[in-house]
Amino acid sequence: MVARRVYADNAGTTPMHPQVLEEMLPYFTEKFGNPSSIHFFGREAKQAMDNARERLARALGARSDEIYFTGSGTEADNWAVKGVALANRAKGNHIITTKIEHHAIIHTCEYLEKHGFDVTYLDVDQYGKISMDQLKQSINDRTILISIMFANNEIGTIQPAEEIGKIAKEKGIYFHTDAVQAMGNTVIDVNKLNVDLLSMSGHKIRGPKGIGALFIRKGVKIDNLIHGGAQERKKRSGTENVAAVVGLGKAAQLAADNLEEHVGHMTFLRDRLINGIKERIQYTRLNGHPTERLVNNVNFSFDFVEGEALLLSLDMVGIAASSGSACTSGALDPSHVLMAIGLSHETAHGSLRMSLGDINTQEDIDYILEQLPPIVNRLRELSPLFKQCEGGKTCV
Ligand SMILES: *Cc1c(COP(=O)(O)O)cnc(C)c1O
Repeated sequence: MVARRVYADNAGTTPMHPQVLEEMLPYFTEKFGNPSSIHFFGREAKQAMDNARERLARALGARSDEIYFTGSGTEADNWAVKGVALANRAKGNHIITTKIEHHAIIHTCEYLEKHGFDVTYLDVDQYGKISMDQLKQSINDRTILISIMFANNEIGTIQPAEEIGKIAKEKGIYFHTDAVQAMGNTVIDVNKLNVDLLSMSGHKIRGPKGIGALFIRKGVKIDNLIHGGAQERKKRSGTENVAAVVGLGKAAQLAADNLEEHVGHMTFLRDRLINGIKERIQYTRLNGHPTERLVNNVNFSFDFVEGEALLLSLDMVGIAASSGSACTSGALDPSHVLMAIGLSHETAHGSLRMSLGDINTQEDIDYILEQLPPIVNRLRELSPLFKQCEGGKTCV
């Protein structure tokens, strides 16, 4: 029925790359071995895992024995924070994070608070950036971990990870970063960043769902989260999801090989979309940092419009986007990220995230720019506040 379908929700999930699927398929069928078995079938599966680990390590500038596979990006985040907290309790019980982390970090920290840990949630400015001064002032002699995301999944803001890493190293505090959104969209080098732990997820980089990984620098003290049969060099038990691991490895390799082209293509489309919206629609606000933002992230607030209504109308013309974060859409609470950058409830509710990917084209952007303005206008016509505003009163 719809003229066109445009997928602009790549921060929610990405379509698997055909080459990823191709490499995975044999591990569902003839190459079904358990990597812990010593016979041929097991060795074949083990070899595939080693290869994937090597590819992931290369994409991050890490050593392959510093890569541990997990069941998701969420598990990697949980493991980093809980694992470091529990293993370093004798040293201290203070953790520093931010108010705009993914729920995989925020809810984990809240859980730890119930078990005797102190957590500082750093503020962010109107663009979503932390203050380095506030970070330094928050450090005390009980601080054992700083967990700050590389780039935000809702508004795309990129944090100064390298500076944070430098401070953490000086103070002898572990630094974890959630790089789930950054991976594949920017260069990541764990040594340049001085990062001790880094989370990633398969399905955000055109790999499969239900697979993630945690980089753990050699020597970092961390407890296990999942106990059992001693897989992943005794750190993460459970028979490995070999096909998904293979898929994640391939996705990471493709992302690294295509990074330069991807960044160019995304930046072009993103800026065309941002500028097009600014030109065509009044009473809008670009959320996130104007320049230090992910190459594929567009997030706008439209005054006098409900984000959910906007999403439904866009869906009817074949455009898939998100309001706030996918995890919170459907819930009535406004996004904690949009609240942290100082938006009012109303403005936060009128926000729309469009996250682009490799499969998007210039025609997709033009289609969004053709469809979005009349939809926003139509919804605004239904708003009594907008009518007042149009009547010449002060608005916004
Ligand atoms: C998607 C996402 C996660 C969770 O990853 P899953 O693999 O979906 O569990 C964590 N952090 C960020 C920033 C994300 O965007």
